[in-house]
Amino acid sequence: MQEQASDAGSGSPTRESSAGCCLVRGPIIVGAGPSGLAVAATLSQHGVPFTVLERSDGIADLWTNRTYDRLRLHLPKVFCELPHVGFPADFPTYPTKHDFLRYLRSYAARFAVSPLFGRTVTSARFDAAASLWRVTAVSAADGRATEYASPWLVVASGENAEMVVPKVKGRERFAGEVLHSSAYRSGERFKGMRVLVLGCGNSGMEMCLDLCEHGATPFMSVRSGVHVLPREMFGASTFGVAMKLLKWLPIKLVDRFLLLVAKMVLGDTERHGLRRPKLGPLEIKNVTGKSPVLDVGAWSLIKSGNIKIVPEVESFTGDKGVRFVDGNEMDFDAVVFATGYRSNVPSWLKDGELFTEDGKPKQAQAASSWRGPNGLYCVGFSGRGLLGAGADALRAAADIAGRWQAVAAAAAAAGAKISSAYSSPPQGVDAHGVVAPA
Ligand SMILES: Cc1cc2nc3c(=O)[nH]c(=O)nc-3n(C[C@H](O)[C@H](O)[C@H](O)COP(=O)(O)OP(=O)(O)OC[C@H]3O[C@@H](n4cnc5c(N)ncnc54)[C@H](O)[C@@H]3O)c2cc1C
Repeated sequence: MQEQASDAGSGSPTRESSAGCCLVRGPIIVGAGPSGLAVAATLSQHGVPFTVLERSDGIADLWTNRTYDRLRLHLPKVFCELPHVGFPADFPTYPTKHDFLRYLRSYAARFAVSPLFGRTVTSARFDAAASLWRVTAVSAADGRATEYASPWLVVASGENAEMVVPKVKGRERFAGEVLHSSAYRSGERFKGMRVLVLGCGNSGMEMCLDLCEHGATPFMSVRSGVHVLPREMFGASTFGVAMKLLKWLPIKLVDRFLLLVAKMVLGDTERHGLRRPKLGPLEIKNVTGKSPVLDVGAWSLIKSGNIKIVPEVESFTGDKGVRFVDGNEMDFDAVVFATGYRSNVPSWLKDGELFTEDGKPKQAQAASSWRGPNGLYCVGFSGRGLLGAGADALRAAADIAGRWQAVAAAAAAAGAKISSAYSSPPQGVDAHGVVAPA
């Protein structure tokens, strides 16, 4: 049987057989977003090879292809750095998405992370007999499925892998454009239009602001409560202030403080149709994962009536018509679903022990949420954005490195190649052995 070496991450040789099976050196990482890159970089610091499988044709697909033009990091750059490399000093406090992408590209280059692009992972299951993860990925180039096998699997496919678009009655009747926020780039092409934005998270708010600035008339449909906080308070980032206070004070007290300052700076958001949830902004984030909105300018436009708040949508009623749950009807030219994303892990990971049915770690708050049984790791699922992804990556990579070094040491002691440390070659996988580290 013929074998081909493919150029897996960090240049590590992966052996691909004509039957479409690969034994890889080191772990398989699913996803080349910030989380996948952070694990790969840290593994490379530990001298551990890896293979990154990425469905799109480049790194950080979310940031490259599924975000609006005006997007900046919501948090100051110090809270968004990946392990080992800070942001350049000349980057603004809140880097633009283009700055962030530049940073990620140079990060990947610095640690020689070269993912296998155009590989969508469709299945991963643990083969207990061989003690290996068997991961199937389909190539975008030719639709061919290849099986990759490794004792370690890192899930880094993101909390935002698939868009969420709720079903709304009568949608087929609406003649205007309907899009998800992942397809929204700029308000430019909506000039002069009445645009309904469903959802009042950071994206929904910012798209309404963008629409206003481009001469459109945005209406924001609000279904549940939302905490709007100023992005900065007393000249410091609100997030930074909250983090400092949490070191000394209980979360409920910090929430009370944040809400007091928010009221002083923004006024009463409820008066303008933005009901605050019962739980405070930090507590609700912990309990439900819902982030508070850090205002970058939409709030003053809501107060001035340039962004109009409307209730939850009940149905589409015609060419342009939308009915709300309070019975009112209005006409719109376009509708944007800023209704968020979900993970796609349940569709391909055939192991229920670490993730819930909706693709979240079962114990997102637990200190061990990054590690599952049988060499399974998850990075970037703690609901704590880039900060959490970096912390997960450091822990997962250190754990894998320890195991890799133990296997390598055992193999060296036996005078064998590292592949022979695995008790049996995976069944059905072309067992030519894994090349020993150079
Ligand atoms: C509009 C927006 C703004 C945000 N702003 C911030 C911010 O300012 N600060 C912050 O901390 N967080 C922010 N976030 C959260 C942000 O998603 C994460 O912080 C960051 O992108 C997470 O990185 P990740 O690698 O875990 O996931 P992702 O960036 O989603 O990367 C996952 C990668 O996995 C790939 N993938 C998915 N499924 C498969 C599969 N089956 N096979 C192969 N590859 C697959 C995807 O193509 C993608 O490249 C924002 C999110 C959005 C949507």
